[in-house]
Amino acid sequence: MKVTFLGTGTSVGVPSVGCQCSTCLSDDQRDKRLRTSVLIEHGDHNILIDASTDFRQQALRIGLRKLAAILFTHSHADHCFGLDDTRPIMFREGAMPCYASEKTWEGLRRIYAYAFEPNGYPGVPRIIPHVIEGDFELRGLRVEPLTVNHGGLNVTAFRIGGFAYVTDCNVIPEETCARLRGLDLLVIDALRLKKHPTHMTLDESLGYIGQLKPRRALLTHISHDIKHEETSARLPAGVEIAYDGLSVEIE
Ligand SMILES: [Zn+2]
Ligand SMILES: [Zn+2]
Ligand SMILES: [Zn+2]
Repeated sequence: MKVTFLGTGTSVGVPSVGCQCSTCLSDDQRDKRLRTSVLIEHGDHNILIDASTDFRQQALRIGLRKLAAILFTHSHADHCFGLDDTRPIMFREGAMPCYASEKTWEGLRRIYAYAFEPNGYPGVPRIIPHVIEGDFELRGLRVEPLTVNHGGLNVTAFRIGGFAYVTDCNVIPEETCARLRGLDLLVIDALRLKKHPTHMTLDESLGYIGQLKPRRALLTHISHDIKHEETSARLPAGVEIAYDGLSVEIE
């Protein structure tokens, strides 16, 4: 299984429009962050976690041709506004299986109401909705959905074998922590250095990493407060800042 970071930036992306800070003006490609999403390649199958606002650009960049399914963490704009841009794949390959919690479907059905209307325009996204209620099989992979807290909102994290994807949260409940042991790779939210009501600070992420002890941890959903080279220099062994285009092979 291969995991590729399509985007590692917070909701406004980095650079942030009009910002003149040193991260936004940085020449380092690792400081150029599209909105957060990963692609999982498993055999012949591509599985997308979140269809970010930048999905079209991300898909063109890697030459993506097909998708077996999309898993959604939640329905905030930066995680689902790219669903409409997966239509060329739907037109070629047929309707797209999409997996989300009931809460996330409430948002997706509202945002994409036109896709669920009977007798609508033929060019709408073709979605096969699956409501996540527990572990499920997807193209030979066992997917374990886990709940994390994003301010007042429950967001779905995903564990697939030794890989876990935990973004958009400020708290990981005890019962979820219990299911995040023995990981080869933990991808975890680390928005910025200052406290935030719905995301983890770098120190909070490092706290969870210290407790969960994955073999390797990669930080994502990063704002311009974090400059890749500067902040990387002070991270503990086994913890790195993810960047767009990074691919990791997992057993
Ligand atoms: Zn987000
Ligand atoms: Zn900036
Ligand atoms: Zn969010």
